[in-house]
Amino acid sequence: MLMRPVASLLTALILAVAGSAVAQEKHLIDPTPPGSLDPKPLPPLQNPDAPSTPAKELFARKSTPFPGPSRSIGGYFDGCLAGAVPLPITGPAWQVMRLSRNRNWGNPQLIRFIERLANNAKKIGWTGLLVGDMSQPRGGPMLSSHNSHQIGLDVDIWFTPMPDHVQSRKEREFVSPVDVVALNMLDVDPEVWTHRHTELIHTAAQDPAVVRILVNAAIKKALCREAGPDRTWLFKVRPWYGHAEHFHVQIACPADSAECKPQPPPLPSDGCGHELDFWFKESTLHPPPHKPKPPLTLAGLPHACEQIVKAP
Ligand SMILES: [Zn+2]
Repeated sequence: MLMRPVASLLTALILAVAGSAVAQEKHLIDPTPPGSLDPKPLPPLQNPDAPSTPAKELFARKSTPFPGPSRSIGGYFDGCLAGAVPLPITGPAWQVMRLSRNRNWGNPQLIRFIERLANNAKKIGWTGLLVGDMSQPRGGPMLSSHNSHQIGLDVDIWFTPMPDHVQSRKEREFVSPVDVVALNMLDVDPEVWTHRHTELIHTAAQDPAVVRILVNAAIKKALCREAGPDRTWLFKVRPWYGHAEHFHVQIACPADSAECKPQPPPLPSDGCGHELDFWFKESTLHPPPHKPKPPLTLAGLPHACEQIVKAP
């Protein structure tokens, strides 16, 4: 309760500085913050075995994968990963960004998907992929940014095309991603959006492993407009908050991950027209602040994840 006047004062200040509410909200989506060229290890936890310890604190302190066969365990929002494989930071047609985050780990099926997409994207004239977050070495919840990405089957891909040189660590850490959504958030920004962006998402959606792609509603609107006669892929691309600098791809549970919990598939409709109305309502574009949910503890994850995160 006490927070409210403080929050409104802050809002007023931000408005005064930014000039408009639109600018304020735009500023808050997709932070993808830079890290450091010399990341320091996290300090040890005082009481790691306490049942109330947030699981993200445990998973964030693991810098190596759990050995053995690859298994995606549990759900995209509540699970972990064994036998994770790193995506090489420089591939024939991709480069990993924000290396200090150490989130370029995944199920081997995700690695193969990224290789395929990078290759297929070249055929439509996309120079290469800038790869953002995948999963942590043992998956699980993260200290920043995501609720999903927990079982090595999600990847964020930047809308910025790959530069024509191998980027230094410094560039990968500090270059800002291009935001393709217009300032008023009602459509894409014609200054930066190109039809090639549509083709890139189309290419990703056509991959049989892909179950769902999340983009900002303004981008979904552009895809609906630009899709052309083949609209069969649009159902996989769904609007979500943020996702103005990158698109989020989720691939299916691999056949060899028996403990992987699939999500219900997206509705079969193309998701265009009136289905987008909700996303452009004032209350959705500028949602009131909400109380964050209490963090997941190990009790909220499959039992196997405890062994995975506690192993040395
Ligand atoms: Zn994502």
